[in-house]
Amino acid sequence: MNTTQSEKLYAQALDFMPSGVNSPVRACRSVGRTPLFIDRAEGSKIYDVDGNEFIDYICSWGPNILGHKQPDVIKAVTSACQNGLTFGACHSGEIELAELIRKNMPSIEMLRLVNSGTEAVMSAIRAARGFTKRDKIVKFEGCYHGHSDGLLVKGGSGLLTNSIPNSAGVPKGYTDTTLLAKYNDEESVQQLFDNCGDEIACVIVEPCAANMGVVPPKKGFLKFLREITEKHGSLLIFDEVITGFRLSLGGAQKLYGVKPDLTTLGKIVGGGMPLAVYGGRKEIMECVAPLGSVYQAGTLSGNPVAVGAGIATLKILEKNKDSIYPELERKSAKIENAMKNAGLNVNRVGSIMTAFFTDKKVVDYDTATTADTKRYAEYYNHLLENGIYAAPSQFEAMFVSFAHTDEDIEKTCQVIESFK
Ligand code: PMP
Repeated sequence: MNTTQSEKLYAQALDFMPSGVNSPVRACRSVGRTPLFIDRAEGSKIYDVDGNEFIDYICSWGPNILGHKQPDVIKAVTSACQNGLTFGACHSGEIELAELIRKNMPSIEMLRLVNSGTEAVMSAIRAARGFTKRDKIVKFEGCYHGHSDGLLVKGGSGLLTNSIPNSAGVPKGYTDTTLLAKYNDEESVQQLFDNCGDEIACVIVEPCAANMGVVPPKKGFLKFLREITEKHGSLLIFDEVITGFRLSLGGAQKLYGVKPDLTTLGKIVGGGMPLAVYGGRKEIMECVAPLGSVYQAGTLSGNPVAVGAGIATLKILEKNKDSIYPELERKSAKIENAMKNAGLNVNRVGSIMTAFFTDKKVVDYDTATTADTKRYAEYYNHLLENGIYAAPSQFEAMFVSFAHTDEDIEKTCQVIESFK
């Protein structure tokens, strides 16, 4: 594979950005490569500056559930642009998007639009603290909730990939109120509530973890979280930045039948533009300024271009839900099957999956981190060299999109099955 142009650009980028990238996992350090520079993408394919074509299973880390450059989404964005990029003021699209979200996720009675998943989670936690008048929060090892100070404790994603359990630059006081529990381990949560249940503002969880690789919740785990939080007057926050509109139109909360107090959304809800959401029970959201005293604001929040992309995406998903989600399931199951044929240990829920290079059943951070990341790097390089663009990290998901054709899936399965 010729990567001359990418390497040239990377050498320049190193001079401007830490490790040449604007988000750590892109640096491809754990797979021993330098990043590919992307020229363009369309449908299921992504093309680098050297003209290499790949079938894309990163899908921009989740947003592109419809594939790249979906015509209706592009049309919505370009037509929004004609009216101005940002007003910093109210417009009707905000209501339309909010309505689409609430209709499909009824637990979100009221919401705010923000610009990134990080911002959504940070704001949701502030609302939870403001509402409950409590400081402590519970998060799970290996779950990633963006890069706000209090959540950079045993996070997944880039922290796990780059072996950074706790970020430097975060004063100890900022994480003193972050209590850690083990994913899928009810006992670890019970202990925290036994110790200080009446001080816990909220439990935040990825209802299906995807940032230590994909780790589904054990049967009853989310229901347990619902019950214990309710019992202690704490709130339950589902971080559905990845799972929202992906595991079903109603997200993981619909799939697993558990209703959180607050939800965060990102990625798909913005249709490929910077847009995220936090929302939930009306009485909690009414604590947000200027109605209440929990402050949160944003210059570009709800900007019409991102809102246009979000509306177009959700409308397509809604209109075609009976074909899109079953198709995603069918295609993803084929890939899972190929992974199993290749002897890989795979966790899959709908259109997200991870092949873990360990013999252990992966149910949490401890079991995920038994994975042999060097072997993953070999697997990654085998895929890449054969035209398959997957996450350059053991601890991320593979994303299948509606744009993946049967031919793409067929080729992908062959490449996976030929991995030695
Ligand atoms: N929460 C989850 C579950 C995520 O997966 C991510 C990003 N991958 C975030 C929050 C942060 O989102 P962003 O990168 O948009 O800040």
